[in-house]
Amino acid sequence: MKKYFLVTTICFAALAASSQNQSPKQTVALNSIEELKLLSTLWQQDAAEYRALCYQAFNTATMHIDAMPKKMRKKQHLAIITDLDETILDNSPNEAQLIKDGKSWNYPSWKQWTDLSAATAVPGAVEFLQYAKRKDINIFYISNRSVNEVASTLINLQKLNLPDADTSHMLFMSNDASKESRRQAVMKTYTVIMLMGDNLNDFANVFEGKNIADRFTETDNAKDDWGKKFIVLPNTTYGEWENALYNYKFNLTPEQKINLLRSSLQGIPQ
Ligand SMILES: [Mg+2]
Repeated sequence: MKKYFLVTTICFAALAASSQNQSPKQTVALNSIEELKLLSTLWQQDAAEYRALCYQAFNTATMHIDAMPKKMRKKQHLAIITDLDETILDNSPNEAQLIKDGKSWNYPSWKQWTDLSAATAVPGAVEFLQYAKRKDINIFYISNRSVNEVASTLINLQKLNLPDADTSHMLFMSNDASKESRRQAVMKTYTVIMLMGDNLNDFANVFEGKNIADRFTETDNAKDDWGKKFIVLPNTTYGEWENALYNYKFNLTPEQKINLLRSSLQGIPQ
């Protein structure tokens, strides 16, 4: 606890100094936006509360399957669509290494990580998917990992004993970041009873490209689906929520990003 308090203090002291004084030396301290991810990465790796939330998500998913009407359970071709990263696979070692090396996210280092096929499973993920498979529910992995990463990811899924770990159940990104067409392809043949993800875009295209207020509205509109048809996993490190904070501008400097983040904070109304 003491260690984390110290880390937080250092981070925010650096932020404050940067906003008041733009000298190159102080900007260097925040040169990597990854540094801002220190606490969220540690939360994923070290907070038992993170594990508890993951178990909670998969326990909820199990209850939803068990509560399915008999008529539905007897149907053929039932399926679950799940995302992979930070839903089934834990990529926090890659994020941690970027912070240690003072680097921002970049595809070559991501690819080096996925080539290792070494991601561990999100707590509860393997047990849940194996349970669903025993109930004759097919599992489809729809991921925005590149199609170049199918082979290494397949090895990773097989190492973890995940069900339906074969290329016919892995729909990775070729040129369309939206998962909608891949979801529709599964839905042509299967009755999808559940979608799992750490990102709103894993569930439906109504969430895509929306600003923060509209993401809230769409989330409220779907409130009856959360914990039932939609099972969401926690990810404080990255995701579409972060892109929305940057207004989907992908070429901002670290300093511009930090200024935007600070301006987004909502303090006590005066
Ligand atoms: Mg994900």
